[in-house]
Parts: sequence; C-alpha cells; structure tokens
Amino acid sequence: MRPELLFPIFAPLSSLSGVGPRIAKLLEKAAGPHVVNLLWHLPREVVDRSFSPPIAEAPAGRIVTIKVTVDKHFPPPDKRRPYRVACRDDTGALTLTFFHADKGYLERELPVGEQRIVSGRIEYFRSEAQIAHPDFITRPEQADSIPKIEPVYPLTAGLTPKVLRKAVLSAVSKAPALPEWLDPEYLRRKDWPSWHDAIEEAHNPQTGADVSAMAQNRQRLAFDELLASQLALAITRAKAKKLPGRSIEGDKRIRALAMKALPFKLTGSQVDALKEIGADMASTSRMLRLLQGDVGSGKTVVALFAMLNAIECGGQAALLAPTEILARQHFETIEPLAKAAGIRIAVLTGRDKGKARKALLEELAVGDIQILIGTHAIFQDDVTFKDLMLAVIDEQHRFGVHQRLALAGKGRGVDMLVMTATPIPRTLMLSAYGDLDVSRLPDKPPGRKPVDTRLVPNGRLDDVAEGIGRAVKSGAKIYWVCPLVEDSEVLDLAAATERFDDLKHRFGEDVVALVHGKMKAKEKDAAMARFIDGPAQILVATTVIEVGVNVPEATIMVIEHAERFGLAQLHQLRGRIGRGAAASTCLLVYGANLTETAERRLKTMRQTEDGFVIAEEDLRLRGAGELLGTRQSGMPVFRLADLAVHGDLLATARDDARLIIERDPDLSSERGKALRILLYLFERDAAVATLRSG
Ligand code: ADP
Ligand code: MG
Repeated sequence: MRPELLFPIFAPLSSLSGVGPRIAKLLEKAAGPHVVNLLWHLPREVVDRSFSPPIAEAPAGRIVTIKVTVDKHFPPPDKRRPYRVACRDDTGALTLTFFHADKGYLERELPVGEQRIVSGRIEYFRSEAQIAHPDFITRPEQADSIPKIEPVYPLTAGLTPKVLRKAVLSAVSKAPALPEWLDPEYLRRKDWPSWHDAIEEAHNPQTGADVSAMAQNRQRLAFDELLASQLALAITRAKAKKLPGRSIEGDKRIRALAMKALPFKLTGSQVDALKEIGADMASTSRMLRLLQGDVGSGKTVVALFAMLNAIECGGQAALLAPTEILARQHFETIEPLAKAAGIRIAVLTGRDKGKARKALLEELAVGDIQILIGTHAIFQDDVTFKDLMLAVIDEQHRFGVHQRLALAGKGRGVDMLVMTATPIPRTLMLSAYGDLDVSRLPDKPPGRKPVDTRLVPNGRLDDVAEGIGRAVKSGAKIYWVCPLVEDSEVLDLAAATERFDDLKHRFGEDVVALVHGKMKAKEKDAAMARFIDGPAQILVATTVIEVGVNVPEATIMVIEHAERFGLAQLHQLRGRIGRGAAASTCLLVYGANLTETAERRLKTMRQTEDGFVIAEEDLRLRGAGELLGTRQSGMPVFRLADLAVHGDLLATARDDARLIIERDPDLSSERGKALRILLYLFERDAAVATLRSG
C-alpha cells in the first residue's frame, strides 16, 4: 500500500484549488492524471523579464518590462481592428494593442494619466513601438508581482501558461517533505538539494541555467528516477534468481553429434558465450541472459547448442522468433544439425491450423518434439510442453516482458536466453534491463569480407540500374529495398510495386521477385524461394527483409531514399549482405535536400560496420527517447532523466541499486524504508509488492 505521506500528490488533479473538470482534463493531457505528474512536468526554458530599457532603446523581439504613463485610449472603429492604448516614457511612445478587448476592463487597468508597469514582447509596426497583449500590467508599487524570471512549460492546446503555472505551484505546495533515500556520502559529494527542495527549485528557476539538464535540481530528480527504476529492476531480478531453477548440465553427447555435422568451427566468442550460458544453466538459479551480437554474428548456433544441453538432460527447448520468415529460417538452419544429432524439431506459427497443428501439439505435450521453433503462436494456451527447460527469445525488443513471462510459465524454472541483433548502447541496456547478464559476439564468423558502402544521389539512379544490369548478367543476387513513405504501409507498398514493375520491364519477368508486409505467408515464401533457389536475382522488398533472412549468395543491396531510414534500420538491412565469402556492395541512394542528421547517418554507414559504434551514434543523433521506438520496444520512458545527458548517473544508479539489494534485500533499514517511498513515488508499486511477498 502506498504510504500516506504520498496521498496528497497521488490525488487527482481536481483536488488542486482552482482546477475544475475541464482544466483537469487539459492538465492531464499535458502531464498526467495525478498531482505528482504536475511535479514531473518541468519547465523547458525561462523568460527573463529583468530587461528594462527606455522605450527608445527597446529592441524588436525582446521581452521587456517598462514603466509608462498612459496617454489615451483608442477603441477600435470595428471588431476586426485592435483596441489601442497610447503610452510613453521620457524617451518615446509605446502602443499597447488588444484584440477582442473588453473596454471597461482596459479602462480600469490602464487609467489615462497614471503610471503602469507593462511587460511583454516589443514589436515595431511602421517604426512605432508596440506590445500586443502585454503579459503583465501592474501599478508601479506592485512591480514585484512581475516575476523577473518566468518558467516556460510544455503546453497542450487549450491550456494557457497562466493556468498551468497556477496548477503547478499548487501542486508544488502539496509536495511533502520526504525522508532522504540517497546515500548520505553521495549526496554530500554531489551537493544536491533534498527531493523537496529540488522540486521547488525546478519549478522556480532563477536563471536559465536552473532549467538545464545539468542543473543541480535536475540532476537530483533525474537520479531519483533512475534509481527507482534500477532498484525496481534489481528487486525483480533478485526475486527471479531466488526462484527455484534447475541445474542443467548435459553429458555433451548430443552436442558432440551436432558439432560433427557443423560445416564450420565455432568462433572464439561463440565458445565463450556458450561457456557463460553453460555456467548459468548449470547453476540452480534461473538464467536470464542476453546474447548480443551483430547481424550475422552467429547467434543461432549458440542458441542451438544451449538448447541441446537441455535436451541432453531430458528436457525440451523453445526458440521464439518475431516473424514467420525468421522462424522458418531458424528451422532450416537448425534442421540438418538436429537430424545429425538425432533429435526432433518442429516449427509452429500462426499459419499452422487444424489437424496438423493438433498432431504437433500432442507430440510436443508428450515430449516427442524436443525443440519447438515458432512465432507468437507459441504463447497460445493449448501449447504445452512435457518439460520445457530453456526458452530462447530472438530479437527481444519486439516482445514485451509479459510475453517473456508467459513463456516461462510453460515450464518449471525455465532458463531464458534472450538474443538481440540490435546492438543496444550500454546506457539503454542498463535502463531497460538493469544489471542483466550479457554475452556478446563481437566478431563475425571468419572469411567475411567488409561491405563496400557507397552513397549515390538519386539523380544517378539510372546508372545504378545499369550497374545492376551488369551484375545480373554475372549471376549476382541483389536486394532492392524500397523507400519508406511517411509511415504509410499502403504507400510503401505502392513504391515497391512500382519499382518491381520497372525492374521487370528492364531485366525481364523472371529475374525479379517482390516481397512486402501485406503478402500472404504462402506468397512470401514463394517469392523468397524464387530468389533463393529459383531464377529471380533481384528481390524487391519493403523493410520486411530487415529481420532475419539469410541468403549468403546475395552480394548487392540497393536502398532507395536511404535518408528516410534510421541508422539501426540501415544497419540491419545492410547486414543481409556480406554474409558469404564474396565481396559485397551496398548502395545508399539518397534524395535531395538532406538534413544534417540524415547526412551524418549516411556518413556513419559509409564509415563503419561496427553495430555498437552505429548504435552509440544513433543514440547521439536521436536521443534515447526515440531510439528503438520506445514504448513498443519495451524500453522505459523517463520523465526526468535524459539518457543522452544523464548516462553516467544511470551507471551510478545501477551500482547503487545493486549494493542496496545486497546489503538490505528487504529494504527494512532506515534508508531502505525511505527507498520504499522512492519506489512508490515513481509508481514502482509492483516492485515493492515483490519485496513483501518475499
Ligand atoms: P545471427 O542470427 O547472429 O544474425 P546467424 O546465426 O544467422 O547470425 O549466422 C549467420 C551465418 O553465419 C549462418 O549462415 C551461420 O551458419 C554462419 N555461421 C555461424 N557461426 C559460424 C562460424 N563460427 N563460422 C562460420 N560461419 C558461421
Ligand atoms: Mg539471427
């Protein structure tokens, strides 16, 4: 249960004075449903009203605060024109203008002959100084009521700065003093304010520096948020480790058979990864390990040997892939090796229905099928294993945490191996998984040649097509990736179809195949088959080939309007070539008017093939929020921390969380109790509940 101390800030917005249902709705849209969300709604910048030049020296466009004498009112002759009030000081004249003005109100606020202080943005109209709708008008003796520095908040349509500001201040006044949860030594070294002071300072900046990400108050709040998230992860993980796992350590008999059938030797990093995985599986706690390796680095084989380990112990294993194509491809990679090792594998996707599916499920339930490869279809309730020991999840970021749990629920103490080809920058890894065990496959299988990446302007597309024509004659296999069109699948498809027709026209019907996301699985397979084993040498594709697809003979890739793709996406796409022994070429065709970031993306692609370098650059160019498409990727979204800036705070929060859980696993010490409040404050209630249930 949430501590009472926090009740006032977890009350609905309508509990604030002056906030009725209509404004509450707007505030909720801008910030969130509770008072606490307004506390997290931090100003983006400040307006400085301290500049008070004489009228004659007021520069256009600046915010000024000026003492004037009111001369005369000019009510408009008709409603479309502004109400004008002529004012002056010793140096010149200033006109205040108001549209849709209330005459009585203006006469009361700006009585002729009296002095007033006005603040607003100076504009010049036919060399006459004007302020349209001054932000403040006060009597000289109340000059102090005009804030020298005014915070500027992100707004939402219909919400005015004044209303928002008032609500925020009201929220701040409800912020309780909370017991300190930070390590006293760390707090002293950083010289940060307390949580309560940080909230007050954040909403009452004195200078522009106070709203920067590096301001003391911002760092404190960012660290609090990161610590809450890392602590929650650490708690969940400590609990998972405590769950009874099973010691899985086979006699290597089956693995030896598969190894003999393997047409290559494992690389050093594959061997290392298998050692780490083997140690995890052998221990009695549950494995949760991430296998990170660039496209084509050979993760599938590693997964296979881990699965065979489980099978040697009499268990079963599941391999989950994000797409149908990829599931089938894993199946094809693994099948010959499985055959050699004398084990049975099967593939299950949404396409499998009726009798065949039923038969498959029966075999799975009695343990006759030892490895099941599949898509989301594996999650279905009627898919039951006799004894699932290991689940491997490929391309993790496409699956949510609850799906991971659903799979774990299909066995007892199931070990988890999560594979990702998206090289996630270290900072993002930490934020999403906390202190997760990671194995990496940094080197590619031997014999791979680097891909020659070139940038080609769109105007030279004809030359590109000619070059492709020569490559076709020499027997090459070519991917032709069509441009993304403004988030529209329909238009993506239109672009691909058009290119497909065009290339068929140039090179002949047989030579070109087309795959896209809207195709039925059967058609897709047929097109792929024509490309892999058939006469087709050019595969025109939307981004559906991004994940998976292994055609080692393919050596050329053309990406049209490459500037529209993200770095990670380009990297994934290019990873489809350079998989065989022959040299490969990637042509990034770009359109006119490149933005600066687009240009940097393309240059990065030309300079490096290192996925980790590319991922770090991606983080720099896009910022953490956008990377990997946030929500759907399972990456947490932070309100106060900006990972592109607060990366080092994240690492500290991770270390701190680990230490806390080591020393005070139940959070029962004084600091532990304060940390519980921190968890509630950032709505990590589930983590606290985990603590309680032991
Ligand atoms: P990933 O899933 O990491 O993208 P794959 O597991 O699909 O990569 O492997 C890519 C290709 O490399 C496959 O054709 C695979 O058979 C091959 N491969 C894997 N390991 C090695 C190795 N040690 N030596 C040579 N080829 C390998
Ligand atoms: Mg793979």
